[in-house]
Amino acid sequence: MTDPLNHSYYAATAHERRPQRDIEGDLECDVAVIGGGFTGLSAALACAERGFSVILIEAEHVGFGASGRNGGQLIPGLRWTASEIEEEFGREHADALFDLCWRDNRVKARIAKHGIDCDLKAGHLEAAWAPKDFDAMRREADYLVNRFDYPTETVAKGDMGGHIASPIYHGGVHDPQGGHFHPLNYAIGLAKAAEAAGVRIWEGEPVRRIAQFSDWSNELFTERTIAGARYVIDATDSWIGQLEPDLGRYTVPIMNYNIATEPLANGDELLPSDAAVADSRFVLNYFRLSADKRLIFGGGERYSQVPPRDIAAFVQPFMAEVFPQIADARIDYGWGGAVAVTMNRLPHIGRRGNTFFAHGFSGHGALVTTLAGELIAEAMAGTAERFDILANLPSQPFPGGKWLRRPLATLGLLWYALRDRLG
Ligand SMILES: Cc1cc2nc3c(=O)[nH]c(=O)nc-3n(C[C@H](O)[C@H](O)[C@H](O)COP(=O)(O)OP(=O)(O)OC[C@H]3O[C@@H](n4cnc5c(N)ncnc54)[C@H](O)[C@@H]3O)c2cc1C
Repeated sequence: MTDPLNHSYYAATAHERRPQRDIEGDLECDVAVIGGGFTGLSAALACAERGFSVILIEAEHVGFGASGRNGGQLIPGLRWTASEIEEEFGREHADALFDLCWRDNRVKARIAKHGIDCDLKAGHLEAAWAPKDFDAMRREADYLVNRFDYPTETVAKGDMGGHIASPIYHGGVHDPQGGHFHPLNYAIGLAKAAEAAGVRIWEGEPVRRIAQFSDWSNELFTERTIAGARYVIDATDSWIGQLEPDLGRYTVPIMNYNIATEPLANGDELLPSDAAVADSRFVLNYFRLSADKRLIFGGGERYSQVPPRDIAAFVQPFMAEVFPQIADARIDYGWGGAVAVTMNRLPHIGRRGNTFFAHGFSGHGALVTTLAGELIAEAMAGTAERFDILANLPSQPFPGGKWLRRPLATLGLLWYALRDRLG
């Protein structure tokens, strides 16, 4: 299928990998993974490393979903701040979550282990849109260092020029443990590592239905065949509701768009420390330099599933507001994808019988999805303590049933976006 949303810089600079349109041999396996994004690929690789026989079935191609289209920003943690987590869940759960989601950078570990070539760079800057946002960031930075001995650099408004050539921000916090990468090349690297570990990847083959039997076996029905598996991992994220409507009630897909400029002679001047930047608006601007010095910029959200007719024209004004000095730069690519968002912005991770799932990373999944996949494999192999730390996060379905869920969620999001604009 050609995808009008996939005119991306990433697709244009993807490393070669021949998609597997057929798989050979027995379709019985220990683990069937549905979805070839970061979650599914990471889970498949980790399961194979633990000795399970694994088939991964992907409707389109590896990295087709959010994993091959995102802003490439590796932001330690979850969508909640660490202090919000401690306040809500208590000291013990906060400690455990912090160790997993802030300290344990599994993306970096995978890149190092498999030599994945994906333009990994260190450094992430959170930039304050309003003075009150900077006050909150400063407090959080103090909390992180005092409570967890996790150092970040608080950057006063007057010093922001060391990171970003834009006058509109009121300060920020730089986290050297964060960073950015080429997400599609990371997904392709994970797929190659998974195949080398014995995973059979089958692309262009949507799973239409899962049947679970009382003896804990499962059958996955595709257009062409039926695969049998003891365990299933549903890693379909934004599409999860199509396979498992009950789980689909926990997320709403929100469309988000990115552009990439032409390579910029002044790229290093725009972002002198080469950090990825995300600002504190509710509908945030996020941007970074690619390896060839393009500005990759994400901004503006649309609550309709219908993409803007001209993605570049939709996103460019957000970029020009941050960087007026490149308002005339040529835009070479514009693309978009669906961000699966949960009610409380925490991922929805769990297990139903012998089906594991992890979805709804709410725009904060580039780093934590690799971890989630590995924890699923760990739980499957019999040690569920670390998996349970994420699976025990609270979750609730969006209200409104099949037809009203999306309009109601949209109303809520529009309210926050409006509050943002009013300051
Ligand atoms: C535009 C955009 C920008 C983003 N920017 C960032 C960012 O900068 N930093 C960050 O941390 N997060 C970001 N995110 C979020 C992040 O990309 C996601 O959280 C993450 O990639 C989710 O990975 P996943 O593997 O769970 O899902 P996906 O990557 O969406 O993978 C799901 C896969 O399942 C396949 N599939 C679906 N249904 C079926 C079926 N029935 N049978 C077989 N296969 C199926 C799909 O084709 C797809 O390949 C962004 C997301 C978007 C869309």
